[in-house]
This record gives sequence, C-alpha cells and structure tokens, in this order.
Amino acid sequence: MITAAPEPRQSAPWPALRWQQAWRDAVRDPRELLALLGLETLAGRVSDEAAAQFPLRVPRGFVARMRHGDPHDPLLRQVLPLDDEMRPATGYGLDAVGDGAARTGPGVIQKYRGRALLVATGSCAINCRYCFRRHFPYSDETAARDGWREAVALIRADTGVEEVLLSGGDPLSLSNAKLAELTGALAGIPHLRRLRIHSRLPVVLPERIDDGLQAWLAGLPWPVTLVIHANHANEFDDTVDAALGRLRGAGVHLLNQAVLLRGVNDDIEALADLSERGFAAGVLPYYLHQLDRVAGSAHFEVDDARAKTLHAALAARLSGYLVPRLVREVAGDTGKRPL
Ligand code: SF4
Repeated sequence: MITAAPEPRQSAPWPALRWQQAWRDAVRDPRELLALLGLETLAGRVSDEAAAQFPLRVPRGFVARMRHGDPHDPLLRQVLPLDDEMRPATGYGLDAVGDGAARTGPGVIQKYRGRALLVATGSCAINCRYCFRRHFPYSDETAARDGWREAVALIRADTGVEEVLLSGGDPLSLSNAKLAELTGALAGIPHLRRLRIHSRLPVVLPERIDDGLQAWLAGLPWPVTLVIHANHANEFDDTVDAALGRLRGAGVHLLNQAVLLRGVNDDIEALADLSERGFAAGVLPYYLHQLDRVAGSAHFEVDDARAKTLHAALAARLSGYLVPRLVREVAGDTGKRPL
C-alpha cells in the first residue's frame, strides 16, 4: 500500500532548517550593512583588506538589533571591518592564547586539568572582529575532519578528562545529526562527567535552537552547560529569550562569557545592563575577559587599570552572583588568570 508522505509541520514554532536559511541569508558586504543602517558615510573607514582577511558575516536578525543611524552602535562595532585592524600593534599575534602549543591531536586542545576542548568546526554564523581564533588554521584543525575518530580516541585514552568542551568556530553550526554522531561516540567513555558547549548562536541566530537540537540536548547522558558569548545587553531580544528558554527547557545550564571591548561595553552602565539582561533571560555571568591579543584587534583593548576600575564598580553595584570574574587567558597558564 502506498501511503501519503506526512505533511510538513508548517505550524511548528521553530521549524527545522529555518536556521540554515537565515544563515545563508547573512549580510556579507560591509557596504550593504552600512546602507541597511543608514550609515553610508562610514564607508570610507571600512577596510577591504581586513574584510578580505576575515570577511564580514552577520545574520539579519542581529542587524535588526543595531540602532539605525548610529555609527557607535555596540553591535555594529563588533562586526564591521575597519581600517583600524590593519595598523600594526606590538604584542599582537596570530595565536594569541597558545592554542598551537596546547594541541594534542587534530582539533583537540588540552590546556587545563580534566578538560579537553574540541575545535568542532571552523564555521560561525557571525564573524566577530576581536575573535581570538580569527587566524586559526581551521582547514587543517577540526575534530570532525576524520569523523571524530582521533579526537574521541584521545579522550578515551586520557582517563583524567572529565569534561569535554565543544568549541570552534561555533559547534552549533554543525547539524543535529553531526552533533549526535559525536556525542554518541563520547557516550561510551566512562570517565566523562560533563559536557560544555561554547556557542554564540543562541544570541546571533536564535532560530538555531530548533526542535531537533532541543531533543538532542535533552537526551545527553551528562549535565550540559552552554556558554553564550554576549557582549552587550542590546544583543538580547524576544527571539533570543525564547531560544534561551528552550535551552533551559532541555535542562541546560546557561552562563555568559563576555569580552571587555573598547567602544562596545567598556562602561559601567553597559556592563551592569549586560549582567542584568542576561540574568532576566536565565543566564548567569561567568567571565569578563580581557581581550586576547590577536592581530587586528588592538583597537578593542581596554587597559588593565581601567578594566579593574570598571570591575570594582560593577561589584559595588550588583549582587555578587551578577558579577563575572575578570580574567585574562595567558598562553601556557593552567587556568584563567584573575586580574
Ligand atoms: S562566534 Fe566566537 S568563534 Fe565565531 S567569530 Fe565570533 S568570537 Fe570567533
């Protein structure tokens, strides 16, 4: 008997594949971005060379949260390739945090006791100009390349590893099937106790938190923490709140790790708003990072004295659980270094 194919679930609030469409539809031309924001006069400050090295990419939903006509918009500043990036800066390099030296296998980085980080993919839905992996050799170094075999074998062999971190690129840019393939292979490793995911997708492309992803998360055999990487309260809106609610519904613990960025969040109001807005969406502040000194990002740096002053003001203003730890990552250290 021939049966009719089931009707697609048109009414599902978060239909599968909607996120891939939104991903493909991202803005990639700096001049188009400026035109959308009524900022054509800024075109002279855009660097084609910087954009060629590390292309602009920003989902339209994130663009919609930028303020029209504001050249200082904190979301715009995070994504627009400016001529500032091409100025040489002493102390800024291609591998700012010593990823290369901490590599233990293809796409596997082990810096801290008990943890193994998998560079799951090089893909991101957004390209952040301050990204410490903007020069990372993703084409050679992703754990997914050989079907996860070598990465999983390394973790299985190292009985000291209790926590796997999925990083990238953005690990949630992988399909649900690919993620399930990885965690299926990891599930047989008896010494694993926790899974942590670092992803900016719940914020920059909230459509990604679809039914299939929610089901995958809910079915994992470990407690799961997801660290969103939001830098400014304006990055949150109703769609982000809904995505974060779906993650919490799947039993995921939500933390935020921000980077202190000049011109984006280097004032007390912005930092307090970020903590409070994130908490309202169910996210606890975790780290406030000093900038990793990656080539092309020096114009974002906030000096340590000012960082400490801001952090002290934040601690004086907010409840303790709303104050992230101010840290720097130093190549070769065995943990994040508090300032
Ligand atoms: S989402 Fe994360 S990994 Fe991707 S470009 Fe931004 S900071 Fe880098």
